[in-house]
Amino acid sequence: MSNSNPLLPPIPFAMAEVEIAEKLRLAGLRPTRQRCALGGLLFAQGDRHVTAEALHEEAVHAGQRMSLATVYNTLHQFQQVGLIRELAIDGQRAYFDTNTSNHNHFYVEPDGHLIDISGHEIKVDGLPLPPAGMRISHIDIVVRLVRDTSKA
Ligand SMILES: [Zn+2]
Repeated sequence: MSNSNPLLPPIPFAMAEVEIAEKLRLAGLRPTRQRCALGGLLFAQGDRHVTAEALHEEAVHAGQRMSLATVYNTLHQFQQVGLIRELAIDGQRAYFDTNTSNHNHFYVEPDGHLIDISGHEIKVDGLPLPPAGMRISHIDIVVRLVRDTSKA
């Protein structure tokens, strides 16, 4: 690493590129150019919720030539190896979450924006027993928000 001063923050882009390739490899994916480009957009800025459409737009902005279908395929590959989680929010758009831990979401309906709710902040009472031979894997709760106009 050329960044010899430990007090300086790491060079974000160069660091991210190496880290992303390594992250993909560890997950069992070959770090192709497209996977690395999308991985960089997804994983280099902390936890994110994105739609394929929004990520495609970002990629195009960043000078990457790829189709929306490629973005979808890559997101699904990332999901299959557990790098991201797909969230079913409104049935029309798929949201992908880079935070794969057990947590729930606020959904800001007016702008289609998701906010994390940590796993222990919601307590679910009175869950039905799953059918024989099944167990509950996790519960996805979406708390839908609208603007509060009552105090305007
Ligand atoms: Zn989330």
